[in-house]
Amino acid sequence: MRIIVSGAAGFIGSHMCDRLLKEGNTVVAVDNLLTGSLDNLSHLDSVKAFQFIEHDVNIPMAAKLPGGSYDAVLHMASAASPKDYLAHPIETLDVGSIGTRNMLELARINNARFLVTSTSECYGDPLVHPQVETYWGNVNPVGPRSCYDESKRFAEAMTMAYHRTHRVRTNIARIFNTYGPKMQLNDGRVVPAFLDQALRGEPLTVFGDGSQTRSFCYVSDLVDGLYRLMLSDERYPVNLGNPREMTILEFAERICGLIRSGSTIVRRPLPEDDPRQRKPDISKAKRVLGWEPVVTLEEGLKTTTEYFRQKVAITT
Ligand code: NAD
Ligand code: UDP
Repeated sequence: MRIIVSGAAGFIGSHMCDRLLKEGNTVVAVDNLLTGSLDNLSHLDSVKAFQFIEHDVNIPMAAKLPGGSYDAVLHMASAASPKDYLAHPIETLDVGSIGTRNMLELARINNARFLVTSTSECYGDPLVHPQVETYWGNVNPVGPRSCYDESKRFAEAMTMAYHRTHRVRTNIARIFNTYGPKMQLNDGRVVPAFLDQALRGEPLTVFGDGSQTRSFCYVSDLVDGLYRLMLSDERYPVNLGNPREMTILEFAERICGLIRSGSTIVRRPLPEDDPRQRKPDISKAKRVLGWEPVVTLEEGLKTTTEYFRQKVAITT
């Protein structure tokens, strides 16, 4: 297949490109480098089936693309870490709305499949636990996180509208917290933040009392779920994430035990609207895609720590 991937220089996008190429596809990667890095794609420089185009997907791009038709469009572009989307709220709303519409148009004119990477943030601070796809969520539409949450909710609505109106073969992935190599060391998300702090022997910054929960999915598992979803006929959202839930305090203690650099734990204020609990119900992904995560937290953290150890060594 010939596939367009937006957000390809980002953490998940770059891993997705690797997987698509491994499966024998040709990839045109698009990114404006807002939060991504070309370093994530540099190993593909000499790969013939791969091409990178620096472009903001909020601007239509059909004229910039290599000729010929495309079989799939994966729309993964969006700031994703709270630090990034709070720094770029308008860009984040634009890429979920205008960017999604532009990418859906590309899919429509090419008669291509379309997949959008939505998020567990669509559930907001959830009142249903674990989160099932049929839950409509508890989102503050005017809070600081709304630029991300509502952008993704709009993206889902636009995707369904293109499916219903133009019969585009669409898929919606609701991704839960994912981690692994190629995350930016300083993007503020809890996995790079804690690993960076622990590797430097600095205190780990737990926000609030640390009783809020998250469930962490290793990136190769997530990418496998996305790949299966892209090939499926499921039009409604599918949760992709690891259901192993823990408190952030437990997670901090686990990282301290893993790195053994003598780090302590310090408390910092809890950000506004930080979801209290999050755990995916993945029954639908199991049923429809035959998918579930296989990488344990211990294995995933080991690989991720090795990656960050090198990054920290370079910056010190
Ligand atoms: P990331 O920030 O590493 O990657 C996002 C990429 O999109 C970056 O390379 C950025 O430069 C690019 N981008 C942003 N705006 C753009 C624009 N207007 N035009 C072109 N490129 C643009 O984030 P990530 O963690 O890899 O997330 C990838 C996707 O998965 C995002 O859509 C995100 O919302 C979704 N997601 C991620 C997680 C997670 O835990 N990592 C969870 C839920 C959803
Ligand atoms: N968090 C924390 N310390 C940090 C960064 C994050 O305690 O240095 C907490 C944050 O408040 C949230 C959880 O870890 O409860 C996950 O945060 P992240 O930014 O990784 O993603 P989110 O799930 O909030 O989108």
